[in-house]
Amino acid sequence: MIGILCAMREELEPILEYVEVKEVIDYGRNKYYLARFQNKDLVLAYSKIGKVNSATTATIMIEKFNARKVLFSGVAGAVDEDLKIGDLIIATKTCQHDIDLTVFGYEPGFVPESKVYFDCDKGLNDIAKSVAKKLDIKLKEGIIASGDQFIHNKEKKEWIKKTFNASAIEMEGGAVGNVCWTLDVPFFMLRAISDTAEEGAGVDFDKFLEESSKVSAKFLVEMLKEINEK
Ligand code: SAH
Repeated sequence: MIGILCAMREELEPILEYVEVKEVIDYGRNKYYLARFQNKDLVLAYSKIGKVNSATTATIMIEKFNARKVLFSGVAGAVDEDLKIGDLIIATKTCQHDIDLTVFGYEPGFVPESKVYFDCDKGLNDIAKSVAKKLDIKLKEGIIASGDQFIHNKEKKEWIKKTFNASAIEMEGGAVGNVCWTLDVPFFMLRAISDTAEEGAGVDFDKFLEESSKVSAKFLVEMLKEINEK
């Protein structure tokens, strides 16, 4: 069983168009779509925005629906200058930029008995890179930082870039990475850029959400073809 997670309805809908939905289960104020795609069993859902919602949904996918891999598809704000709206990025690792226990001497993003960065699955990232190569699609790899804030400020963005060496910013990946590390489930995260996370990002986001969601969805489906998992 492969779990496919998004944050928003707009991110999930274009993926649902490619799969054969067998059943829709209402659970925990959410809908879980059980589906088939080329002999593979999938559970798909959008969690609603933010770290708590995405962590809850990822946990339910793993614990209740037995997902053995979690793949995230969605949109993000660009941090790296060479990322333009519509470009794709996969996370090498994710972190939570809004965790701050620095007054106790810890580095930003660090929680005692946990860690700052959660690694994404190398095998799944290799599949993504080979699909990108085959289809001649530009695919960047980098750290993606999450927090429960929509970033639309250059100064804040630069702080996140400098502190976490992040290439993109969003609101879920660090939490899902944490869940997958805790439960020992491989995690993959793909994002298409919707905005630059600077002043005016809110306007760009609304304009490009649908288009960028489709870019991410389409690539994820191409990747699914290459994943061996029943
Ligand atoms: N306009 C939406 C809210 C969007 S929140 C509404 O009214 O419902 C932004 C979503 O896209 C989050 O799920 C987050 O993961 C991602 N995202 C894209 N750009 C972002 C940015 N600049 N900062 C933080 N999250 C961003």
